[in-house]
Amino acid sequence: MAAKFVLEPPKKGDPIEVRQDLTLDVPDRPIVPFIEGDGTGPDIWRASQAVFDAAVRKAYGGKREIAWYEVFAGEKANKVYGEALWLPDETVEAIRRYVVAIKGPLTTPIGGGFRSINVTLRQVLDLYACVRPVRYFQGVPSPMKRPELLDVMIFRENVEDVYAGIEWAAGSPEANRVIALCKELGKTIRAESGIGIKPMSAFGSKRLIRRGILYALEHGKASVTLVHKGNIMKYTEGAFRGWGYELARDEFADRVISEDDVYKHHGGKVPAGKVLIKDRIADSIFQQLLLRPDEYSVLCTPNLNGDYLSDACAAQVGGLGIAPGGNIGDRAAVFEATHGTAPKYAGLDKVNPGSVMLSGALMLEHLGWSEASALITRGMERAIQAKTVTYDFARQMEGAREVKCSGFGSAVIEQMV
Ligand code: NAP
Repeated sequence: MAAKFVLEPPKKGDPIEVRQDLTLDVPDRPIVPFIEGDGTGPDIWRASQAVFDAAVRKAYGGKREIAWYEVFAGEKANKVYGEALWLPDETVEAIRRYVVAIKGPLTTPIGGGFRSINVTLRQVLDLYACVRPVRYFQGVPSPMKRPELLDVMIFRENVEDVYAGIEWAAGSPEANRVIALCKELGKTIRAESGIGIKPMSAFGSKRLIRRGILYALEHGKASVTLVHKGNIMKYTEGAFRGWGYELARDEFADRVISEDDVYKHHGGKVPAGKVLIKDRIADSIFQQLLLRPDEYSVLCTPNLNGDYLSDACAAQVGGLGIAPGGNIGDRAAVFEATHGTAPKYAGLDKVNPGSVMLSGALMLEHLGWSEASALITRGMERAIQAKTVTYDFARQMEGAREVKCSGFGSAVIEQMV
């Protein structure tokens, strides 16, 4: 019989606590759970952890240090626990207790009955904001003429909309009942239709948009754009837009201004010191971000729009390979690679660890350790500019020096100046 409790937090280190106002109380030696991930995960994690430790050491000269705490999920959890356990309860509890965690990519088991581990983590920990910074790193191959003009922070709602979607197959008794109910309510749905319901609430939309506005205010960003398909879905996507403006008015009236007000009362010019709140229809934002990327800085979007938009933006600056991500809630946050496990390269020390490294930079910023975060970003920027890159970039860059996954980590550390 497998042991059910295998985790032991590090002895040296203290937990991060969430204060009553939901800000974080971060000790100098915070215990941070990590999941190294499957496939190429261990290679990527080794390289990334060395970078995180070097950045923290360099920024704080030994005054601060992360007490890493390995917790298990995915294939490694199966091995460690000796049974098919993809996301052990104690892993979830450890993340809940220690508030901030980071993970590599995990295999999604194929077959009936398994929900993605990533999706499960987001739901059980109520990580309602999927946060994706998208910016260009000089030298990365990109299909755009001026990829550096795109620099956005995407806040994508992470637990409602299609992630909380309810579906019934065409012809099922449930679908037939919903069709009959709609008929009673005066709405006609063709027989033999599949049915999907996407719930979106004021509470869920507002807490996401609040994070976006606070981020813009704290980081001196020019605007927050609400992305929606409200012209078609009035009471979900359209309501998202409405709730966003309502929140801006109710909670941030003295620090933000709507696009409407700017045109009506300020001759089209945003008053100094105010963050502009605007909205764009989901299909139009894709053109806008291609044609006028520098007019956007923070984007808040419901779940499905954000899914498409995050990857499209990442493609503009050179692909998902180095796109970082964070899933943030009020009481916990999990930072993660946005690519998968790339299993064919497992154990070859080959792939690009950039996505986990930048997710770590995002995590350090979340902890308020912005100096260490900036060092990681700077180290990566300079390593790429020096054309010291892994195979995926090297094959598209002229004159590149191809290094291994660990070699890229060392290059980033050398370039932290
Ligand atoms: P994938 O692992 O992202 O790999 C697809 C291709 O993307 C790789 O073959 C490689 O391209 C490139 N790639 C991915 N990561 C890279 C990296 N770090 N450096 C350089 N190139 C990289 O997608 P997949 O093959 O569809 O999925 C494999 C497994 O990962 C599945 O079990 C899936 O469920 C899981 N997954 C997990 C997450 C997550 O945990 N967040 C996300 C997505 C998928 P080349 O072959 O061209 O070199």
